[in-house]
Amino acid sequence: MSEHISEHIIVCSNTSHMLKGEKVLRKEGIPVRLIPTPKKYGQLCTTSIVIPTELKSSAESILRKEKVKYIGIYKLEPLRVDNLLLNDNNVKEDFANIIRKIESGQDLTLKEVERLLAAENPAEVEVLLSAGDRMRKKAVGDVVEIRGIVEFSNYCRKNCNYCGLRKANNSLKRYRMTPREIVETAVEMRKFGISTVILQSGEDPWYTEEIMVGIIREIKRQTGMRITLSIGERPRWELEAFRKAGANNYLLKIESANRKIFELAHPDDDYDVRVRNIKDLKELGYLTGSGSIVGLPGQRPEHLAEDIMFLKEMGIGMVGIGPFIPARNTPFENMPPGDLLMSLKMVAVARLVLKNVFIPSTTAMATLSPDGQRRGLLSGANVIMVNFTPQNLKKSYEIYSNKAVITLKTAVELIKSTERKLPPYIKEKV
Ligand code: SAM
Ligand code: SF4
Repeated sequence: MSEHISEHIIVCSNTSHMLKGEKVLRKEGIPVRLIPTPKKYGQLCTTSIVIPTELKSSAESILRKEKVKYIGIYKLEPLRVDNLLLNDNNVKEDFANIIRKIESGQDLTLKEVERLLAAENPAEVEVLLSAGDRMRKKAVGDVVEIRGIVEFSNYCRKNCNYCGLRKANNSLKRYRMTPREIVETAVEMRKFGISTVILQSGEDPWYTEEIMVGIIREIKRQTGMRITLSIGERPRWELEAFRKAGANNYLLKIESANRKIFELAHPDDDYDVRVRNIKDLKELGYLTGSGSIVGLPGQRPEHLAEDIMFLKEMGIGMVGIGPFIPARNTPFENMPPGDLLMSLKMVAVARLVLKNVFIPSTTAMATLSPDGQRRGLLSGANVIMVNFTPQNLKKSYEIYSNKAVITLKTAVELIKSTERKLPPYIKEKV
């Protein structure tokens, strides 16, 4: 992830060649990571493969031998964005200096990240959010990626203090979708052109390694979609089996990289196990997603700055940031919700620090405020998740109260309202 290591980017002609390329290179021992294709390399394939420069010729010969079609292999230049600073006397000098550092492509320190997040003066906040948006444009272009999510089970063996799915919540009507129903839902989203399915659930051991492998294989066989798992912690051997079966991405949020805050929110989780699991995902070659909840009890800008540095250090490729929203029948039900502006600042800073990553404008932002998701897209986000959970089950996936439902129609309208581009794979008869 560091800008000082020389890297090359392989841009393929379409998603299936990119996936094949990633697989064959990895098999041959070439360390690869996936990033959203930077705008200047075109947007035929929205995800590209990054390799160390010294392995460029080996990679080229492997790709040729395996008949992987690629448009080109280019040197990955560090991202620089000019004129981020608006001419405003209300922007303090120390803040302006940090923005200038970003413009010149330098890495920020923890203290500098904290200073950005602590910005409250409206002029500084405006500079920060628009800088996030401009970095987004330069790093990933104007396309807003659309993912389809199916929340296939609300059973959970854990008791996270903020979450409505926690095991001790007896008032929740529990459901499980059958493997067949899950596959059918993925097939349904594919008909709209969606090319990545997110399979999300509570931590539900009913879906054993074998059952999950069957679901993953069948979705791949019937749709060829990229598969993202968001099913909580699993032992490494299971993560490996899912990866071999065809899972591409995995979302496992650290929720808070600060050990104390993590422990306060997770009575039955171990911080080190969570970090180990995230490292496992990286090592197994998943495009790994993580992120945090904004507004957990005791959390201050310095803790959120720790989250950003954690994501950078771990080489996270998808960043999920959402405000905390109180959920009925949980220990945190009477806590105040997270702050939308702080969540937007987190999106902007994540974009400025991590640059070439996927950042959703989350459902939690939409739930907190009617224009929350739109503002997320205007502060650095480039992904929207559309909910395909069957209608009769949606309301039972109550991770927090009054959760917004994002349909394909609302997502398309939202993208158009921000004058951004729909992804080329979406069929627009919605
Ligand atoms: N069980 C899996 C896990 O925990 O990774 C996936 C499902 S879990 C419901 C997905 C995400 O929901 C969590 O990572 C957490 O950040 C978010 N979440 C749960 N309760 C929340 C709340 N009250 N406010 C905001 N986000 C919440
Ligand atoms: Fe379960 Fe995930 Fe909710 Fe924790 S956040 S209670 S693991 S569904």
